[in-house]
Amino acid sequence: MSARHPPLTELASRAGRALLDLLLPPHCAVCDAPVDAPGLLCIDCFRRTGFITEPFCVRCGVPFANAALGGTEHLCPGCRTAPPVFRQARAALRYDAQGRRLILPFKHADRTELSSVLAPQMARTGAALLGEADLLVPVPLHRGRLFRRGYNQAALLAKAVARISGRPCLPDALVRLRATAALGEKSATERAAEVAGAFAVRRSRAARLRGGRVLLIDDVMTSGATANACAAVLLAAGAASVDVLAAARVPDPRLN
Ligand SMILES: [Zn+2]
Ligand SMILES: [Zn+2]
Repeated sequence: MSARHPPLTELASRAGRALLDLLLPPHCAVCDAPVDAPGLLCIDCFRRTGFITEPFCVRCGVPFANAALGGTEHLCPGCRTAPPVFRQARAALRYDAQGRRLILPFKHADRTELSSVLAPQMARTGAALLGEADLLVPVPLHRGRLFRRGYNQAALLAKAVARISGRPCLPDALVRLRATAALGEKSATERAAEVAGAFAVRRSRAARLRGGRVLLIDDVMTSGATANACAAVLLAAGAASVDVLAAARVPDPRLN
């Protein structure tokens, strides 16, 4: 048997798993409760999921605990003082305890099939942005991380949302030139510095971006610093506009 083919034992175990999937009733994507079809959440998990609804910042989409926090402009303090270069960002769900139960296995435990749970929610939340988008582009992973993980979770989401919406996807339009540290604990200035110069447009893809309205796709949006850095290089490469659509959004504790 040639080395290019998986060994027979692996093929048998794959076939076994596929057979089990057929024989066992489908279960919820988060817990083990039975559901009608694969790729669904059970009623309890669906209820626990914090889908983002109004009020939120009209610019970056960060949820507000109440409408008064956005003032008459419906903008968060960050967008009022230092507006992002992207036009608008939206996210399907809050990155809270339940959001993490969906996102973390998708990101770190090879549960790539969860893109089929997240993408329809993103397509629903981002319907207006998708209606105006010419091209979907995922936030890239650094080469080393991509090699270790085996997949870019944002690219899986971008392809799944592209399939649902019928919009073209350019999964390799952006490159991450260096690995960046986690931005969670950093100040806005530190975050901007951490991602400055970390992204570039792939030269062979620049022509496709010129004049296009790009919808940038990410799994989790925290402060928006990463999205903003990606938007900046896309705009510099000639994109007409950049919007952002994420699966989940980390709520800003100051707005709760
Ligand atoms: Zn469940
Ligand atoms: Zn905002």
